[in-house]
Amino acid sequence: MSLSQLARSICESPTLKLNETAALLRDKGEPVIHLGGGEPKSKAPIDAIMACSGLLQTGEVRYTPADGIPALKKAIIRYTEEHYNRLVTPDNVIASSGAKQSIMVLLHAILDPKEEVIFPVPFWVSYPEMIKIAGGVPVPVTARDGGFEPTVEEIAEAVGPYTKAILLNSPNNPSGVVYSEEFIGGVVELCEKRNLYLIMDDTYNRLIFDGRVPSNCYRYTGVQNLNSSKLIVINCVSKMYAMTGFRIGWAVGNKEVVRAMANIQSQETSGPAAPSQWAAVGALNGIQSSIESLRLTLENNRNVLLKRLGGLSGVKTVKPGGTFYTFPDFSAYEKDSQKLSRMLLDKVRVVTVPGREFGMEGHLRVSFCGTMKEITEGVDRIKWALDPSAPNEMFLGDRKLVRDWR
Ligand code: PMP
Repeated sequence: MSLSQLARSICESPTLKLNETAALLRDKGEPVIHLGGGEPKSKAPIDAIMACSGLLQTGEVRYTPADGIPALKKAIIRYTEEHYNRLVTPDNVIASSGAKQSIMVLLHAILDPKEEVIFPVPFWVSYPEMIKIAGGVPVPVTARDGGFEPTVEEIAEAVGPYTKAILLNSPNNPSGVVYSEEFIGGVVELCEKRNLYLIMDDTYNRLIFDGRVPSNCYRYTGVQNLNSSKLIVINCVSKMYAMTGFRIGWAVGNKEVVRAMANIQSQETSGPAAPSQWAAVGALNGIQSSIESLRLTLENNRNVLLKRLGGLSGVKTVKPGGTFYTFPDFSAYEKDSQKLSRMLLDKVRVVTVPGREFGMEGHLRVSFCGTMKEITEGVDRIKWALDPSAPNEMFLGDRKLVRDWR
């Protein structure tokens, strides 16, 4: 089969692949615990369902403008004013099929072949592949101190003649870390000084813990006119409203860039699905209590997960300030994260995501968006699998496991 060079260079999304593996094992009756997932288990807000079914009941589900229906743009404009204190106009807004598509069309809109996009390690698995699809070169930057947040100087050192953009995701998937205001402000300044695009992926902006307030990158910009600015902010309904399957995300930025993104989107997919856009309108304009309720559940899940993981000596964990992921260092047990993740799936049927996929070996991404039972039992199984001093036998349902490794 002759495939393009591009097709041969792009890997499958490892997280989506793991979802498939977990579903296949479950179908076979295996007692799988999925701690690798990336979606909250709560239901979509009722206002989203009502708005969506309102459209469905008319039976008239049509194409929409390529960059989103006016009602959704209006809701996004209101969201931007409320949460970012920025007044924007409809030509600064594009709605896409998920934050993923917003980022993808943005990369297509700004990158020429071989231009570079810098982002900190650990990073969301899709960034390198998406940059490559758009013809660019991914430039991950690892913190010299081994932590989850490089310094502004380390980012600046990676800037070269081919750098086109810097991409930040805070709170961060996979580490759960909320970047310091000093770091975010420093990168905004750096981009403005060096005339670079800054893509702020704020997918988890509202899912933060310990009394934090959501970060607002616009606080640090020296460019007050959005249409002269290269700062593009990405958001979505996927995580904060537990609406991953609706596939609605958006970008807010300079109208010239947004128009280019809309042109690309219009040729690639047309506008996002109309029922999903109405669902997003319902969510954004409706009662907002579901976000707080999800946030509280996640904070509690995080606390339980950390406490339980704490019982496993040698595992180093940085307390996540947001998201629903934690990224512990398991290298005291196994340095090869793919081997470790595979072993946990094979032996105790727990799904985790290998750190290698996020640019950091020795770590596993462990999610806490599942039920409390999944979290506690999942960690107990991991502990049993790794801790040589644990009893030799354990029951998975009525199946007796005997530890015959290590
Ligand atoms: N950015 C980050 C950091 C994410 O974790 C995800 C989803 N896992 C996305 C973007 C994509 O979001 P969506 O589902 O809206 O495409």
